[in-house]
Amino acid sequence: MSDIMDLCELSPAYVRAIAPYQPGKPITELAREFGLDEGSIVKLASNENPRGLSPKALAAIQAALPDLARYPDGFELTQALSQRLGVPMQQIVLGNGSNDVLELAGMAFLAPGCSAVYSQHAFAVYPLATQARGAHSIAVPAKNFGHDLEAMLAAIRPDTHVVFIANPNNPTGTMLTAAELESFLRRAPKNVVVVVDEAYNEYLDPVLRCPSIAWLARFPNLIVTRTFSKVYGLAGLRVGYAVCHPEVAALLNRVRQPFNVNNLAIVAAIAALADQDFVRDSYELNVAGMAQLLDGCRRMGLAWIPSYGNFVSVEIQRAGNESQAGAVFQKLLRLGVIVRPLANYGMPDHLRVTIGLARENTRFLEALDAVLKA
Ligand SMILES: *Cc1c(COP(=O)(O)O)cnc(C)c1O
Repeated sequence: MSDIMDLCELSPAYVRAIAPYQPGKPITELAREFGLDEGSIVKLASNENPRGLSPKALAAIQAALPDLARYPDGFELTQALSQRLGVPMQQIVLGNGSNDVLELAGMAFLAPGCSAVYSQHAFAVYPLATQARGAHSIAVPAKNFGHDLEAMLAAIRPDTHVVFIANPNNPTGTMLTAAELESFLRRAPKNVVVVVDEAYNEYLDPVLRCPSIAWLARFPNLIVTRTFSKVYGLAGLRVGYAVCHPEVAALLNRVRQPFNVNNLAIVAAIAALADQDFVRDSYELNVAGMAQLLDGCRRMGLAWIPSYGNFVSVEIQRAGNESQAGAVFQKLLRLGVIVRPLANYGMPDHLRVTIGLARENTRFLEALDAVLKA
């Protein structure tokens, strides 16, 4: 056995067993692989905002560049969120993306000997955050690709410390109604933390949004997480947040790196939050783009999972008993179109495509049509 093998054995078995997160393929990587021009590539693989970021956020970033020698101070962003959400600042925890706050929930509440419950086909970070702590994962079979809350409730064991729920869920796009989620919160044991991940909240029709922030007053075990990566267009800066009971926030803050959100992310998020016109225009573009994409799928005779996010998972018909989605994904890459294969989410027959600009959606539909006809 080599020294490096001995060294790696020092890492707990549960860490060594982690299957790394598989990100959407970067444009730069595809350009290198196939010798394509970066400008000709359409990336609809990571649910990013196709409009980019608010010009006001960009200006704030540019104005803050000279201040990078200083450590960040999250006070003003926390204050802006506090005002916007109507909750005291002590209930808000900033994260390096909401991925970070999901990990903080894992760090604060999970350890070897306890378990976390989440749904089959749910966001990949839940199993990662669970396994990184050596806790046991309970993946509850989905119902019509969505969360089966009754089964999740039944799956909670005495050693369960955390339940992760994505609403809407990625990569399925499925949504739970406020009544369903509230019923779950009412019936879940009070000594189990329920993380409700609302990364796509701003893409929901306002009438479908849950009063999740208001629920915090009734459910001290609730943690709501949100992000600036999606509708706000700041995925590359990494900023998100949790809203929860102040005592829970204090625990998350104990395991949080003191300076987990950087100066540029902070000023950009403050400016982005203030630019609700940009958010509204992005929402409207998504509604139109979703209609365009689904219309194209309908014309091609394709099935999809009805989605409430800025993406949709499209079913690729099998050939005999053989899944074709992986091959279609590869052929789309050759045409310069990046989507997301979902085999690692237990969905080997689906491809997830992010709603892009109208011309990007057209590129995707034309490329998919060409691949399916070939
Ligand atoms: C994209 C996404 C996030 C946000 O990730 P960030 O770390 O904030 O970029 C969180 N949850 C779900 C379900 C997502 O799809």
